[in-house]
Parts: sequence; structure tokens; C-alpha cells
Amino acid sequence: MAGLTPLGDARSLLLGAVTPLAPRPTATGAALGLVLAEDVVAAEDVPPFANTAMDGFAVRAGDTVGAPVRLAVVGTITAGDPPEPAVGPGEAVRIMTGAPIPPGADAVVMVERTRPAGEGAVEVLDAVVVGQHVRPAGDDVRAGTVVVTAGTPLRPAHLGVLANLGVTEVRAHPRPRVGVLSTGDELVEAPPGRLGPGKIRDSNRPMLLAELARSGFAPVDLGRVGDDEDAIAAAVQDGTRRCDAVLTSGGVSVGDADLVKAVLDRLGRMHWLQIAIKPAKPFAFGIIGDVPVFGLPGNPVSSAVSFELLARPALRRLGGHTALDRPRLLARATEPLRRSPDGKTHYQRVVVTVGDGRLAARPAGGQGSHQLGALAAANGLAVVPDGDGVDAGADVEVLLLDDPVG
Ligand code: AMP
Ligand code: MG
Repeated sequence: MAGLTPLGDARSLLLGAVTPLAPRPTATGAALGLVLAEDVVAAEDVPPFANTAMDGFAVRAGDTVGAPVRLAVVGTITAGDPPEPAVGPGEAVRIMTGAPIPPGADAVVMVERTRPAGEGAVEVLDAVVVGQHVRPAGDDVRAGTVVVTAGTPLRPAHLGVLANLGVTEVRAHPRPRVGVLSTGDELVEAPPGRLGPGKIRDSNRPMLLAELARSGFAPVDLGRVGDDEDAIAAAVQDGTRRCDAVLTSGGVSVGDADLVKAVLDRLGRMHWLQIAIKPAKPFAFGIIGDVPVFGLPGNPVSSAVSFELLARPALRRLGGHTALDRPRLLARATEPLRRSPDGKTHYQRVVVTVGDGRLAARPAGGQGSHQLGALAAANGLAVVPDGDGVDAGADVEVLLLDDPVG
């Protein structure tokens, strides 16, 4: 359709204009989800000493040849103890998982393969080989090796690895602070049933703040302003002062009251796009000062979808990520996903289920851009190409917004 920008072009425009925030020293305790900016090299071995993987007896493997054999028990070592006493020929030390292997011992017999043999002795039922059930020093991480590479988004296990090494600070891209501003004279805060004529409640701001939080950004609530140029300008400038990026909702289409357009044009260099997607056709993007500003449409589903397809990838780039989009997977449509040709790609709200390891998708409800209920019922967006839709039984690409349901 003439005048519409393909989604890929809009995405490239945004990504080309956004550069990752400068890395800074960050406490590992605050680094979950942040992108590491330099390799972390292990300064120590993990584990730091050879220890036992089993409860049992530390022995000299050579003593167990010809088992069953009887060995003298000369002590006990539990996790946290020093590695003593040493194990001499014909001797064993009772040892618990994680305890250090004492000098002289070179293997562990698990307790299940032994029998008590009276005071101060144990009978070993099977021969063991050197190194059996022993976790050598450095078996997990060797000193000098790279344990987490630059560019990695830090997951819980990475934080565990860093803790293992005593690393309490890393260089990481900071968590982008992202402001959310709602605009519209119709928006009010009102208790249930108390809406004035023509008024509605603001659903976009809490939704977008929550989307930001769950995607690992630091949400900043910039509040709600009416359709007033000065108020919008003041709120946007407040946002660009306090935040690394700003999202506005509403006022970016062509209606008389779409003042966000006028204000943003005054404050910075903006691009006004009509994107070849449904929902979420109108979209604005620009840089004000040096802060990226995303003008999302007001219709709630449009707002959420343009966040997902355009703002979120750009914000992830700001945070230093290189994997910017959600995975796209193939699912079988269990019901038809209807649409008519209009030159746009449709992103239909669907429920994605998984059975026998395969994904299936069905419509989540009404597909209007005001029907937030269907988005709430959905866990995915089906990518329905221009045309007549997808027949039941055919495969469709889905963008998973959340875990598939069983
Ligand atoms: P606009 O983009 O400002 O023309 O708004 C398009 C539609 O979205 C209108 O029906 C608005 O009332 C509605 N809308 C705008 N902002 C919000 C909001 N924050 N929460 C819920 N609906 C909104
Ligand atoms: Mg409006």
C-alpha cells in the first residue's frame, strides 16, 4: 500500500539511531539481565581444592585391589573441614560430600559400597580406581579461563559463577531508564463507576511500565497529561532529563488533538511513520537532546504491539543486547486466522499451546486495536502475512510473548 513503511525499514531506522549506553562498574547483585561489557577471567580454580562427590571413605585405590578388604578408619572429614588426617597404607577416612580429599588418598568409596567392620574399621566391598568420585581442583572452572564473555546478558547461573570466583563487580551496560508518559484529555484516574462523560481510564501507562519491568528495563512513571502543548512539552522534557529513553502514548495519528506530534516536532528531529502492520500503524521516533523518544499510538493493543516490535528491540540495543527480538517459532493454527488483504502484515493475538513438543495457536479473542482483553488472554502474536489469512491446520509464525501453555 502506498506510503506505508515496511516494518523492517522502521526497525532499521530506530536501531541505526540508538547506540548502547556506556558500560560502567556494576555490583553483581544488581546485574541480573544486564549485558556484560568485558570478558570475566577466572582468577581462581573452582572448586578450589580436590573434594569428594559422594559420602563415603577416602582411600588409596591400590589398597582396594582384591576387594572385599578391611581398612582402618582413622578419622572423619566433613564439608568445611581442613583435609586431615592423612590416609596411610591400609587406612581410610570417613568423608562427606564437598569435604577435601586428605593427603595420601586418591579415591573415594561410596558409603553404599562399604560395610561396617567393627570399631575403627570398614569393609570395602568393591575395588575403586584412582580418581573415583574425586572432583579435582579446577574441575568446574580453571584459573585463567574466560568464564563469561563480553556481550552476555547475565542470567542467574552467571551470577552464581561470578559468586564462585569472588567477583562482586563487573563492567556492564547500565539498565536503561525508560520513561512512560500518557497523553489524552479523555484519560482520568477514577474509582470504579465514577467516570465522567467521555472519559476513560489510562491502561497504557501501567501496561507499558510493566512491560518495561519484565523486559529488564528500569521503568520511570512520567504520569499523564491532557491534550495541551505546554503540558506535553514539559512532561517530555522532564522525561528526557531523567531517562535514557522516553515512550509516549497517544496523539501520534492525524486527529485534531494529536498534539504530541506538534510538540515532539518542536523539541527534536522526529520521523513520523505509517508502518505496514496492523495493529500499530502510526508510530513516531526521534532523538530529543540525545535521548531516543518513541511515540506509540494510543489504542492499547497498538501501543503494546508497537512497543513489542519497535521500541523493545531499540531499548534492548540501548542496554547493549545484540539479540533484540523474541524468538519466532512455527505453530499450527488450530482455527483459521482470518484477515483480508490490505498491504499490511497482521500481528494477531493468539493463545500458543504446546503438546507433544509442538506448538499450536488459536485466536485469543477480538482482534480490534482497542480490545486489550484479547491481548491479556494471549501469549503470542501470530504473524499473518498480507492476504486472506491462515487456514486451520496450516503453519503460522508466532512471536512468543510469554511461555506457551500446556
Ligand atoms: P490517540 O492515539 O491519542 O488518537 O488515541 C487512540 C485511542 O486510544 C483513543 O480511543 C484513545 O482514547 C485511546 N487511548 C489513548 N491513550 C490511552 C491510554 N493511555 N489508555 C487507554 N486508552 C488510550
Ligand atoms: Mg489522544
